[in-house]
Amino acid sequence: MRMLPAGPLLHRATAKRNPIARRLLAHTTRRRLNLDPAPSNPPRNPRITTPRSQPQPPPPSSPPPPPTTRLTTTPSSPKWPPLPLPPPEITPLHPKLTRILASNPSKFTLQGTNTYLLGAGATRLLIDTGEGKPAWLSALKAHLAAENATLLHVLLTHRHHDHVGGVADVRAAWPGATVWKCEPEDGEEEIVDGARWHLPEAQVTLRAVHTPGHTSDHMCFVWEEEGAVFTGDNVLGHGTSVFEDLGAYVASLERMRGLFAGGRGITGRAYPGHGEVVEDGRGRVEEYIRHRAQREEQVVQTLRGRGQEGVETTSGAGGGGDGSWAVMELVASIYRDVPESLHPAAAGGVVQILQKLLREGKAVVEGDGERWRLTGSGRSAL
Ligand SMILES: [Zn+2]
Repeated sequence: MRMLPAGPLLHRATAKRNPIARRLLAHTTRRRLNLDPAPSNPPRNPRITTPRSQPQPPPPSSPPPPPTTRLTTTPSSPKWPPLPLPPPEITPLHPKLTRILASNPSKFTLQGTNTYLLGAGATRLLIDTGEGKPAWLSALKAHLAAENATLLHVLLTHRHHDHVGGVADVRAAWPGATVWKCEPEDGEEEIVDGARWHLPEAQVTLRAVHTPGHTSDHMCFVWEEEGAVFTGDNVLGHGTSVFEDLGAYVASLERMRGLFAGGRGITGRAYPGHGEVVEDGRGRVEEYIRHRAQREEQVVQTLRGRGQEGVETTSGAGGGGDGSWAVMELVASIYRDVPESLHPAAAGGVVQILQKLLREGKAVVEGDGERWRLTGSGRSAL
């Protein structure tokens, strides 16, 4: 999740292609904020949806409070506020699956990038490599040494630095490992849609599914024996993800919905690139799909001259009074509960939706790319 040209921020590639986006980018703050709330939350406080680690109660081994002194005890002074505990670097998630955090926590990467080590016996398959932090490499080396195992395959979900930054270190440490990626670079093998990897000793089979949108090269991996999916940055453990191409992203979510399986002894989990394991993987993907549809509907309703709650806007005829809207007029209406200073950041997401509507023939842009309106087909949906 190149962290995070967040939710609505304009992606540079988008900006290059689109003059409107280019202009918006010029006055976009580029602050990395994710204005998209979690799918199930209303957009009331859209500042940031990537929660820091929740405060934890002090562990049983916490030191006892210090001796009371006249200086430190006042009725209002908080006592020993709980310290957030970092999640453990290495976490067994399944007898054949271990998560190793990439040691790069931030508000953009949540607890850090998740890297996953699959297998049993003498060989392992690694999904993603973090961003090349020495602590991550040390943890990986120590774990494999303790297991007396070596790396056979390295699969990369997409090109963002926090997923591929450790590749050089991995190559140096395990020169026999094969590195796989969609749109490969030198020294990498190409991942194509439907490619499979099988670890006979562990009886683990993975299948690649091309799921563009977050990036054009984004791959998910289905763990066939478990009906589970390594979702990369398309679906996260918390909040919502970002994308370069909304139309492709939504199509990928639709495809991902069918990848999960349930049933006896099968987990159907989503193992995201960031955040905690999601037990109901299919359910989470469906939430994401609903969330995207709601966002799009908000834009369509506003273009129709209706506000968030279906209330007619002042003119009833669009931000300009003639049924056409500038991007920032749409943003001001849709995000009216959000501080104005964040509106430029929100514009990126709105532009993505408008471009999707344009491609689908539901909206047109006029006035030298400045003003948007629904087409006849868009209006007739009323
Ligand atoms: Zn990414």
